[in-house]
Amino acid sequence: MSKEKGSLSIHSENIFPIIKKWLYSDHDIFIRELISNACDAITKLNKLNTLGEVSISEDTAYKIEVIVDDKNNTLSFVDNGLGMTDDEIKKYINQIAFSGAEDFLNQYKDKANDDQIIGHFGLGFYSAFMVADRVEINTKSYKEDYTPVKWTCEGGTDFEMEKGTREQRGTEIILYIGDDGKEFLNEYTVRSTIEKYCSFMPYEIYLSNPNTEPKKDDEGNLIVEEPKPLNTTTPLYTKKPNECSDDEYKEFYRKTFMDFKEPLFWIHLNMDYPFNLKGILYFPRFNHEFDNMEGQIKLYNNQVFVADNIKEVIPEFLLLLKGVIDCPDLPLNVSRSFLQNDGFVKKISGYISKKVADKLNSLFNTDKPAYENFWGDINPFIKFGCLKDETFYDKLKDIMLYKSTTEGHSTLSEYLERNKDKHENKIYYVTDEKQQAQYIKMFKDHDMEAVILEHNIDQPFISHLEMKEANIKFVRIDADLTETMKDSSEVVNEEEDKALLEDLEKIFKASLGKAELNVKIENLKAEEISAMIILPEESRRMQEMSKMYSMYGMDPSMFKTEETLLLNKKNELVKYIVEHKENEDKKEDIKLFCEQIYDLAMLSHKPLTPDAMTKFISRSNLILKKLI
Ligand code: ADP
Ligand code: MG
Repeated sequence: MSKEKGSLSIHSENIFPIIKKWLYSDHDIFIRELISNACDAITKLNKLNTLGEVSISEDTAYKIEVIVDDKNNTLSFVDNGLGMTDDEIKKYINQIAFSGAEDFLNQYKDKANDDQIIGHFGLGFYSAFMVADRVEINTKSYKEDYTPVKWTCEGGTDFEMEKGTREQRGTEIILYIGDDGKEFLNEYTVRSTIEKYCSFMPYEIYLSNPNTEPKKDDEGNLIVEEPKPLNTTTPLYTKKPNECSDDEYKEFYRKTFMDFKEPLFWIHLNMDYPFNLKGILYFPRFNHEFDNMEGQIKLYNNQVFVADNIKEVIPEFLLLLKGVIDCPDLPLNVSRSFLQNDGFVKKISGYISKKVADKLNSLFNTDKPAYENFWGDINPFIKFGCLKDETFYDKLKDIMLYKSTTEGHSTLSEYLERNKDKHENKIYYVTDEKQQAQYIKMFKDHDMEAVILEHNIDQPFISHLEMKEANIKFVRIDADLTETMKDSSEVVNEEEDKALLEDLEKIFKASLGKAELNVKIENLKAEEISAMIILPEESRRMQEMSKMYSMYGMDPSMFKTEETLLLNKKNELVKYIVEHKENEDKKEDIKLFCEQIYDLAMLSHKPLTPDAMTKFISRSNLILKKLI
């Protein structure tokens, strides 16, 4: 063939500067594009072979070689796929096949960091110009009658094409790296980019550097190392679930996520209809604070990595899991706006969350002990899912577990059924077992149980539950006294009570210096308890809300609420205070009692402020000293 020069058929002269500038944010993507083209070329050849249109010897090792030559400033991609004829180069490379490219460019002009555009519009190969000043193709087609071709382009719209010298079937793409791409002359960078995008690609990928000094042993003999591919060509998720062992699942998890904690369990997704989707979702061991949960879902298209954590495809709450999802029906390069509006994508996301719900249900039904065991780890995730996804909530609501202060785990209906004679449709709960130990003990003493809800997600979750299930009401254990705690055998004289309350109120307000203090009195069965702090459920939720609002800069005083100090009439100390209220000699002691009683009640309600804590400690010492 004679040497040929020409212009690429594109509409915009400025296509290359645009490619460079636009894709700047993620310009390692060219490696993915060139390697996936190489994979495509091998797949096509393989296909022709199985169709009998070409005969490839059985022992052919299909592979892709990436060569970093940091002396000559080149990065090359070599495959032994089907190669190209000159006509094919003209057709597939020279005519950048995107009609309406200008329209497209104009349309997306202001979305400069949209890095998903390339192959979708047939720009895959040209992404090489993000890092290269000149690109050379040396290719030889599998078709016998064609000569090899060499094609060169310097990043403008002109190219040169001539007879090439390549002897083996396949294609070599040489990138002469320019100033913008210097980092890709670093073997380590190239390796990690290949590992990021290509670790599951279907043909072996090798990386080499001709300038690396060969390794020698102590006697100066060359050490010959078998080159190792950087990728796994058949990742576990491509196999059938019944062909995978637990150990394989765990190993795949370790390698893919570099997480050496064992996952709790996993779900192998495998479907062909109505769309193609394969993958494995792992439930990692969560940190106990919901805020620290961080998952990673890697999305693949035919074993080519597309992106991490694409919210549009993976339901948000599933992003707390770790997993891989391969969906060849999704376009490899997708813009987010496309995904958001795509019904197909919504279906995928619905399917995945249905699968997760099914798995959890089957675990609950077939292996309850295991399910209970996982519950502590997985419950924040499930609650988050319920808040985010209506259908998920509906499927999970009957298998949500509640850990009781006395009974182990049970479902909500089991709890309600057990306690229906004591308190109908009411669920008492504890948010901090240590802090609320005093109340929990009282509950136990009175043969009552509360459920333990100690994650941050629990507050929004119970509000959600109350909204969905009209009848039920969650009440924190310190919201009020339950009837069972009161000693109703005591005869109450209203007149006397009124006077007593007035006295106690006056003494406590004065001693504590809190004019606003709310005080109540009651006969508690537990005589040893002097006082408790109660805060009605509504007020406490208001307080929480106000904390949230004040974070947003709103005035929290509009939600101002006060705890109530509930004094036990039957308690010795309380009685003593009233009896000695006129006694001048006891005045100081009574002040100490009041302060101490208040702090003790407060301590089992919420943490003391640093100032209150300091005072509490020195006062306790003072009281002890008086015992000497
Ligand atoms: P796409 O891969 O989406 O078709 P590209 O711009 O990545 O778009 O590639 C354009 C075309 O160039 C490919 O469809 C293929 O026909 C040809 N091509 C690119 N790289 C190779 C290769 N390594 N071997 C054979 N053909 C190739
Ligand atoms: Mg391509």
